[in-house]
Formats: sequence, structure tokens, C-alpha cells
Amino acid sequence: MRKRILVTGGAGFIGSHLCEKLLANGHEVFCLDNYFTGQKDNLLHLINNPYFELIRHDVTMPFYIEADEIYNLACPASPVHYQHNGIKTIKTSVMGAINMLGLAKRVKAKVLQASTSEVYGNPTTHPHPESYWGNVNPVGSRACYDEGKRCAEALFVNYHKQNNVKIKILRIFNTYGPRMHPNDGRVVSNFIVQALQNKNITIYGDGSHTRSFCYVDDVVNGMVDFMNTDDSITGPVNIGSPSDFPIIELAKKIIEITNSKSEFTFLSLPEDDPATRNPDISLIKKTISWQPKTSLEEGLTNTINYFKKTLKL
Ligand code: NAD
Ligand code: UDP
Repeated sequence: MRKRILVTGGAGFIGSHLCEKLLANGHEVFCLDNYFTGQKDNLLHLINNPYFELIRHDVTMPFYIEADEIYNLACPASPVHYQHNGIKTIKTSVMGAINMLGLAKRVKAKVLQASTSEVYGNPTTHPHPESYWGNVNPVGSRACYDEGKRCAEALFVNYHKQNNVKIKILRIFNTYGPRMHPNDGRVVSNFIVQALQNKNITIYGDGSHTRSFCYVDDVVNGMVDFMNTDDSITGPVNIGSPSDFPIIELAKKIIEITNSKSEFTFLSLPEDDPATRNPDISLIKKTISWQPKTSLEEGLTNTINYFKKTLKL
């Protein structure tokens, strides 16, 4: 059956891959975006599809459409961008969630929240299961994003309990791939662009902080499968690669694949930068038999080829 699906933040990195996948699955897709960090270039190849519609709108304002499902991704995800206007980031997370939950309640749609590993803050467990409540600094520079996303989760759970809205909460860990913005400021895009230009690789701190990186196709497949689970399954559920490693190792790998002459520059570590990020994925494995399929080498190679082409390097 052809479903009518609203994707907020659909012009962004993950959102554009999700729109593509939902159209390929035979659905009608409404992509809502204010183009703060997203761009039409990510969607040019979809624009002539009669089942695809682009809507310029800010998710902090109410929006009405008949839809069967809503994927709520609208929110800047890079620390540089979400800290640029912290108040707006909080409004996007909180008012955006209220508006999308209100819409879901009105039209009886199922709604999936793109939550984040940031709800765990600087975790004291390793790996981090969904039952861990997190360790977030509520007044630090990452709080606008972390607390905004935590409040959005609370809103989702309460709309579900009070109003029977069908919800899905997915906690996404670091995701990378083609269509990351070259000036996005996140580590994978920064390192690849620097390596391709033989510029110094900017390591924040001593490079010992760890992250686990999951390729975008794997995350998008998991998002769609999770949306399609039974209504009794609400999450929160983690999604991401279970193998974490130090940032300096990522830099070395990217230098190796790009055959770059780049060297390292060590810069100060941003405030409250979590020391580690590693999802416990046993729940998503059990729920939808999900696990990442793309190796880091393969995913990085695809991403490097994308940047070579778009930046003409
Ligand atoms: P992105 O910045 O590329 O995409 C976000 C999109 O939302 C952009 O197109 C942007 O223009 C749009 N947007 C921002 N504010 C908006 C507003 N007020 N109204 C309408 N549109 C708005 O980021 P991404 O990496 O694609 O992340 C997508 C979602 O996934 C975000 O909600 C993010 O928090 C979540 N997430 C991403 C990651 C990751 O590693 N990429 C990890 C955890 C969670
Ligand atoms: N980082 C880095 N150099 C960069 C960008 C990021 O060393 O040019 C580090 C950053 O300090 C963090 C990790 O890489 O420890 C991941 O940062 P990113 O901004 O990609 O996402 P985060 O997981 O912090 O939200």
C-alpha cells in the first residue's frame, strides 16, 4: 500500500537518504525543511518524481497535512551548527516535537523521533544500554541539543500515554556518509575534506576520545524497519555501530584511504565533549534483527568518493 509519509529535516544528510528510500519503497513523500543545514542539492535527483513534494517550512510553527507516518528529523545535528543559535535549537527540538505530535494525534499518524546518543551525555557506562539515564550537563554548551532531545523524548512518551499517539523513539549514534555538508564541522566530513586538500587534520584534544561510526544506509534501513514494527513497540531503541575507536585512528584511516600528505594539528577539546560513545545494540538486534552491514573501509571510501566529486578534488 502506498503510504503518505512526512519527513521533517528531509533536505539534510540523513533525511535526504530517508526520502530516497521511502520513494524507492513506493510511498508518497512530503519533505519539510527550512534549509538551515540542509540543501536542495541533496534532493535534486528526486524532484521530478510525482510522488515527492518539497515544503519550505519551519517545524517550530504548526503544520497540517494528511499523513500516515511522520519521521521527525528536523534539527541541526553538528555541534557547530546546533550551538550557533542554542535557543533556536531548543525551540526546534521541543516545539518541533509538540507540532509533529499534535499533527500525529490529529490525523492518527505514527510518528518516529530521530533522537540521539547525546541523551546519554558523557556516559559512565560502556557500552550504553537504553536503560542508562545519562550524564548530561544541563547548563553546558551542548545542553541546547542534549536537553532539547531529552525533552522531545519525554513529550513523545507523554503523548503516547495520554493520547494514544503511536510513537517510535530511535537513539541514533554517530552516522556518516555521502551528503554530509563539507562545512558541517563533524569529524568525518572535516577529516575527509582536510585529507583530500592535504591540509592539517584538526584533532581536538589528544585524539583519544572514542566514537563509533555507522554508515547512513544501515541507519536508514533500521529507521524504516523500526517504523514498521508493531504499535506496542515504542522504544527508545539505540541504533549505531557497536565498535568504537579513538578519533586519531579515524584520522589515520582516512589519511591511508585518501593517500593524503596531511599531518595532525592538535587543538583544544570543546567543552563537555563526551569521552566515549558506544551503543549497546542488543535491543534493536532483538526487535528488528538489525546490525550494521557496511564496513568502515567501504563506507569511508563511498564518502570520500562523494566529496571528491562534489568538491571537484
Ligand atoms: P542535518 O543537519 O544534515 O539535517 C537536519 C535537517 O533539519 C536539515 O535539512 C535542516 O535544514 C533541517 N532543520 C533544522 N532546523 C529546522 C527547523 N526548525 N525546521 C525545519 N527544518 C529544520 O543533520 P542529520 O545528520 O541529517 O541529522 C538528522 C536528524 O538525526 C537530527 O534530528 C539529528 O539530531 C539526528 N541525529 C543525527 C546523528 C548523526 O550522526 N548524523 C546522530 C544522532 C541523531
Ligand atoms: N573532532 C575532532 N576534530 C574535528 C571534529 C571533531 O577531533 O575536526 C572530535 C570531537 O572533539 C569529538 C569527535 O571528534 O570528540 C566527534 O565529533 P563530532 O562533532 O563529529 O560529533 P559528536 O559525536 O561530538 O557530536
